[in-house]
Amino acid sequence: MKELAEILLTPEQIATRVKELGAEITKDYQGKNLIVIGILKGALPFMADLIRQIKVPLRYDLMAVSSYGASTKSSGAVQILKDIETGLEGEDVLVVEDIIDTGLTLKYLLRNLQARHPASLKVCTLLDKPSRREVEITPEYNGFVIPDRFVVGYGLDYAERFRELPLIGVLKPEVYEGK
Ligand code: 5GP
Repeated sequence: MKELAEILLTPEQIATRVKELGAEITKDYQGKNLIVIGILKGALPFMADLIRQIKVPLRYDLMAVSSYGASTKSSGAVQILKDIETGLEGEDVLVVEDIIDTGLTLKYLLRNLQARHPASLKVCTLLDKPSRREVEITPEYNGFVIPDRFVVGYGLDYAERFRELPLIGVLKPEVYEGK
C-alpha cells in the first residue's frame, strides 16, 4: 500500500499471536465468569479475533472513551462516551485495548471500572509502547512490544483512516504532511 513506509506486523504474525493470547486467557479463566470489554473504536478487530480464540464461556461489551488532546493530557480527565450496559460486581473483567502508549487513558478507565467492584480486573492489549509510558501500567496480556512509531491498521487509525487494514504498518511522513 502506497501510504505505508513499513509493515511492522503481517496478518499472519497477528493471527499467530492472537491465538497464543487466546490460549493463555483460556487457561487462566477456567471456571470463571469472564466479561470482555473492548474499547472503541481501535480494539474492535482485535477483540473480534481474540474472543474466537478464548475457549471459556464469556460475555462481551464495548466502551468508548474520549482520547487525549494535547491540552487534556495533564489533567488526567477522560470522558466515557459510551458505557457498558451491565454491572460488573463479582465478575472477572478483561479489558481489551488496541495500544498502550502513555497509559493515561487506561489508568483512568481501570480506576473507573475498579470502583464497580469486579472480582478481578485485567488488561489485554495488542500493542505496547512502553518507552512512552507516563504512568505505571503493565498489561497482564500483551501481543507485541513495539518501538515509538505511530502505527495504523487492524483497528488503529490516522484521522479515521486505515482501520480496515489487516496488518499493522507505519505511515509515510508525507501522509501527515500532506494534510
Ligand atoms: P494513551 O492514553 O495510552 O497515551 O493512549 C492510548 C490511545 O492513543 C490508544 O487507544 C490509541 O487510540 C492512541 N494511540 C497511541 N499510540 C498510537 C499509534 O501509534 N497509532 C494510533 N493509530 N493510535 C495510537
